[in-house]
Amino acid sequence: MQNSLDHVNSLYRFRISSYIRKTFGDGSDTSQRVLKQFSPDPQELINPEHFSNDPLSETHSDIHPAVNLIHKYKSKVLVLVTSECPVFCRYCTRKRKTLMSKPEKADWLPALDYVKNNASINEVIFSGGDPFMLPVGQLQQMAMSFAQIKHVGFLRWHTRVVNTSPERVNQKLLDMFLALKEFHPQKIYTLVSHINLAEELTETVKLKFKNLQSTGLRLYNQSVLLKGINDDFETLRDLILALIDNQIQPYYLHQLDRVEGSSHFEVKEEYGLQLMQQLREALPAWAIPRYVRDSKSGKSNLFY
Ligand code: SF4
Repeated sequence: MQNSLDHVNSLYRFRISSYIRKTFGDGSDTSQRVLKQFSPDPQELINPEHFSNDPLSETHSDIHPAVNLIHKYKSKVLVLVTSECPVFCRYCTRKRKTLMSKPEKADWLPALDYVKNNASINEVIFSGGDPFMLPVGQLQQMAMSFAQIKHVGFLRWHTRVVNTSPERVNQKLLDMFLALKEFHPQKIYTLVSHINLAEELTETVKLKFKNLQSTGLRLYNQSVLLKGINDDFETLRDLILALIDNQIQPYYLHQLDRVEGSSHFEVKEEYGLQLMQQLREALPAWAIPRYVRDSKSGKSNLFY
């Protein structure tokens, strides 16, 4: 067992933020489920066919036309601004850049040039890794540069910082969003969090979301359906209720991307569909996230 764990640790980086350790260190069932998302497991050495280190083929040149940029849908691009996160999720789709890479220098200038020269792009999504791991000054310079492009009307941040390292949501970060709104009031600013369990929305985290919303950000959430973590009706229902109670719109429930070392988290799609049907019967339709499977060519709706 120890040898297997050592092997796992030699393959993948491991990180759990001090906030998560402190908040979920009581050994309860819920805490263990939270921690399981980030904890190395010998089962990561099992790699069935079709599990790879780039399950969405993001390194293919046809959707990867510039450094740190993914252009899959005509009107939007994803800019990968860092390989760092406050926690490393063991099932991370972009494991090749997060758990399997060394810290990389943020290099977003090629992406900026690409977007400037492509008028069909109206939305820029900052992702990574977690964009909020960058110093706020750098984040602001980057966001302002993209916001200045006339044909870009929407800026979006994908982050797990709010619920795993809430101290990073400080006044400086809030001021950045206020400044964006002030200088470019006609643009739409969106934050998409990654929360898989209602319990991740602690009082501290709720307050941070409220602060972010007060800057004019629209809040959405994406979750991943994970075996042994949130693959039952009650857990998903409680998650959705906690999100809407905090004015965060449930956006996506992702079928696991088949990234290497994550097969023990996979839930069968047929079972996922049953869960979605139960949720649809129990909750308002507008509160139900889209259950999707992602691929190189984009998302397919499994249940909507
Ligand atoms: S926070 Fe997001 S980018 Fe970072 S390891 Fe988790 S899933 Fe990957």
